[in-house]
Amino acid sequence: MDVKGGRPFAPSFGVLHEGLREGSDPVMRPSQGVFSSMAKTKASRAAPKAGRAAAPASGAKRKAVPAKAKAKRSGARPRSDGGQSERSRLVELKRRIREMANLNAGPERGAARTSDKAKAKPAGAAAGKRSTGGASAESRLAELKRRLQEASDIAYACAVLGWDQATYMPKGGAPARGRQGATLSRLVHERLTDPAIGKLLDGLMAYAEGLPEDSDDACLIRVVRRDYDKAIKVPAELVARRSEVASASYDAWTRARPANDFAAMRPYLERVLDLSREHARYLGPYDHIADPLIDDLDDGMTVASVRALFDALRAELVPIVRAIAEQPLADDSCLRQRFPEAQQLDFSIAVIRRFGYDFDRGRLDKTHHPFCTKFSSGDVRITTRVKENDLGDALFSTLHEAGHALYEQGVNPAYEGTRLDSGTSMGVHESQSRLWENLVGRSRGFWEHFYPQLRQVFPEQLEAVPLETFYRAINKVERSLIRTDADEVTYNLHVMLRFDLELDLLEGRLKVKDLPEAWRARFKADLGLEPPDDRDGCLQDVHWYGGGIGGAFQSYTIGNILSAQFYAAAVAAHPEIPREMTRGQLGTLHAWLRESLYRHGRKLQPDEIVRRATGRPMTIEPYIAYLRGKYGELYRLPARPA
Ligand SMILES: [Zn+2]
Repeated sequence: MDVKGGRPFAPSFGVLHEGLREGSDPVMRPSQGVFSSMAKTKASRAAPKAGRAAAPASGAKRKAVPAKAKAKRSGARPRSDGGQSERSRLVELKRRIREMANLNAGPERGAARTSDKAKAKPAGAAAGKRSTGGASAESRLAELKRRLQEASDIAYACAVLGWDQATYMPKGGAPARGRQGATLSRLVHERLTDPAIGKLLDGLMAYAEGLPEDSDDACLIRVVRRDYDKAIKVPAELVARRSEVASASYDAWTRARPANDFAAMRPYLERVLDLSREHARYLGPYDHIADPLIDDLDDGMTVASVRALFDALRAELVPIVRAIAEQPLADDSCLRQRFPEAQQLDFSIAVIRRFGYDFDRGRLDKTHHPFCTKFSSGDVRITTRVKENDLGDALFSTLHEAGHALYEQGVNPAYEGTRLDSGTSMGVHESQSRLWENLVGRSRGFWEHFYPQLRQVFPEQLEAVPLETFYRAINKVERSLIRTDADEVTYNLHVMLRFDLELDLLEGRLKVKDLPEAWRARFKADLGLEPPDDRDGCLQDVHWYGGGIGGAFQSYTIGNILSAQFYAAAVAAHPEIPREMTRGQLGTLHAWLRESLYRHGRKLQPDEIVRRATGRPMTIEPYIAYLRGKYGELYRLPARPA
């Protein structure tokens, strides 16, 4: 299963909530979230009506406080509200807020360069107009960072509420929690789309161009500019409508899926499709309507680039899957005995400590759908779930979430509170959960060290189970109906099927009413199975029913592809890594990833970071080589035709 997260990897701002929903796989989203999609995610959890009703009042109240505080700090003007009526006080307050916004953003009209400003307004000309001469790029940048920090504080506070909701909150807290989440998300969105940010950015572009291209500040300005320009294209009204529909649709889906009732979901899905298209249209121009949706989570990717990648991958995968399907199924009954919860958790914790997960800056709790979330660089939490009759569930969920968390714990702490303080894209994030879960956690070398320890924890259950049997069990390949239960080899076929169907829907070539049939046909063709019903067919994933069609599924496969590419690069740089792994030593691998990838946060674009870390753009070769090597040996596959 995946990590959990909200549409915005909320890590960034903490909204890792997708996983909260029934049947979803939690995925930590990259930080873009806050700008573009936090509302979507939140929406699904929130009680939309209450949320929207409560929002304005609470928003106004909260906004007032910092503005006042700021006015005081800057000594702009003596307070003059003694004895005023509520109303006039409010008018005065609004005026001050406007004034502060103007001060902060610099001159109303445009691109006031430092020199112009200096000429126009001699230093000290007016009280409150501090820092004229240099009002400068430095002060603008400081103001920009202050605003980003404030938005980030609200967003991370919101993430704490989301984490609590998914772990310890009593059921009775749900309605209020939904409203609180919606309110805070909206405040974050307002903060980040404030025109004052646009003005600050306008005033900083020339400055950024003069900085070294790789400097933190230049990158920050570029990233914020990109996020801001995108966020303001979408009207708040549409964001609210999407929230509302998403929330209602998700709620209906939680009943319709168990009831196998696609007909009940059809009107919702039609609405969700319309809104997804409307959303994309605001983000134009584009070559394909799904391009901006994909770009939301996987910066720089398009339908064309994903398709090219997937076509190449499919051509390699299908013969592998077919060849494995001709072999007898691996026996995984050793994983299906009774394994008490406490020992399972203790063992998982021991393993992720070895990964390098820092418990002084994180913790592990139980939830229904595991996820990773972040409240600051000093607090990156993961969750898991335990099935006593399935040893693999808690273990691999925990390793997966720990992979996301290592990435977040490794981001340069200096980026905290800026837009750079989380992973660079959803696909790259997923590459780290997959790397630690699969390339490390399902490797033979890793278990050469850890299996004896696992056996000590569960002597009765595993005494008679040789390492080789265990290794084959945790790497069982089987064509199956459910994506989140799929193995490493077949998983991508599940993803590609969804990706293609959602493009057909967005393009209007497939009608929602025909989706169940299209799903069955495609599933039969790709995986050789016929879903017996819609519950385990087109109703199985929350993504489409939780508010959006398009833009999310590709990240899972990009993650798989990149997991092998990053790992291969690490081993090329440090050939001792596999040997160290057999001794339970993972420090060299972790250090390489931290240095090459984690510390950069969002400072570098995904393609840039891949190129710098691995020496080339994203490619499927290392992934195919990994699958062929590992499963070729496990299933004695014929050597690849020359
Ligand atoms: Zn994940």
